[in-house]
Amino acid sequence: MSDQNLLFISGPTNIPGRLRQAMDVQIRDYWAPDFVDLKLPAQAGVIEVFVTDSVHILFFPASGTGGWEAAITNTLSVGDKVLMARNGVFSDRWIDLCQRHGLEVQVIDCAWGDSAPADKIEAALTADAGQQIKAVLITQNETATGVRSDIASIRDPMDSATHSAPLFVDCVSSLASMPFAMDEWGVNIAVAGSQKGFMLATGMAILIVSQTGLDATKQASWPRTFFDFRDMIRATDEGCYPYTPPMNLMAGLRESLTMLSEEGLGIVYARHFRMAEGVRRAVSAWGFELVASAPDLYSDTVSAILNPRGFDSNLLTQHAVYGYGVLFGVGLGELKGKAFRIGHFGSLTDVMVLSGLATMEMAMADLDYPVELEGVAAPAQGYFRESRIGVGRLAA
Ligand SMILES: *Cc1c(COP(=O)(O)O)cnc(C)c1O
Repeated sequence: MSDQNLLFISGPTNIPGRLRQAMDVQIRDYWAPDFVDLKLPAQAGVIEVFVTDSVHILFFPASGTGGWEAAITNTLSVGDKVLMARNGVFSDRWIDLCQRHGLEVQVIDCAWGDSAPADKIEAALTADAGQQIKAVLITQNETATGVRSDIASIRDPMDSATHSAPLFVDCVSSLASMPFAMDEWGVNIAVAGSQKGFMLATGMAILIVSQTGLDATKQASWPRTFFDFRDMIRATDEGCYPYTPPMNLMAGLRESLTMLSEEGLGIVYARHFRMAEGVRRAVSAWGFELVASAPDLYSDTVSAILNPRGFDSNLLTQHAVYGYGVLFGVGLGELKGKAFRIGHFGSLTDVMVLSGLATMEMAMADLDYPVELEGVAAPAQGYFRESRIGVGRLAA
């Protein structure tokens, strides 16, 4: 039997055998001089994926949520005001985290399916003449709705509003699968995790902090210890770590970055676009609609698909598990029961995506959905054939 997991969720993603082996390392002393051999290549590689000259790359033993908490507690204080858009479960969780930390959150509520609105962000910042807003926090890829937000288009009006608030971006479900350009987009803190685009086990939050992001730490009065940027930066400068590091994940990350650079980041992004586009063609052949409200918002890592009326998407995803052993994403929050999600990122190819689409069709046919079993995945096959890159010499 294949050890490939039949996983079409939006993270964690499949861990390829090469990375499982890379994480299988003997423990070493993190005070030893060779610890940097593990950490430095991982830091150097990460810089290329974020496309940044920022020197502060911080690996915390945590999931992405811990990364958010680190970003907040190091830069803000109780009572500070932050500006955020809510367009799905993940941006909503970030808002909740800020509120629980005593921040005053100015929320821009958006329809689920829309992206973070640059014009409303600009208006809010322009109206904030007293510069009360201390940070703008945006989720690049809203995993619950399959919607991407254009970070560059948000930064431009921030600049033209001549507002000094730093921009923090959650790129947990987009980094290393969809383009990111930290410096060009003027992002001051970016938060990612080990278990999505990097195809590793869960447990390491990856943060990049620009000089402006670091300057913000000086005013922050939130108590912090485990997540203190200062301890982490000091330890990094000394070639060690403030406490026991997630060594297996660092070893895995080093290898993951090698894999990504062997394939070439441009090709990695193109592969994700192709897989996503194949899924989108099948969805339209099913006669279904995406939650994302416009094509320029489509995520290349996850598609959220509205169910036809009268059908419960939870029963569909459950049936796919019990009937066929294949896992798809469920509808989250207000999309519970109304939408299902197909995750198409990480260690996946077009052919693997076809197996997911074909399985989804079988599950739908079993549950009397209004789809024909014959060849509904054909538009995806057609698209994959015409956009084929070819993997070997025999490919005509
Ligand atoms: C997965 C995810 C996270 C992080 O979740 P953890 O389970 O804490 O790793 C954060 N933001 C987005 C957009 C995500 O998809």
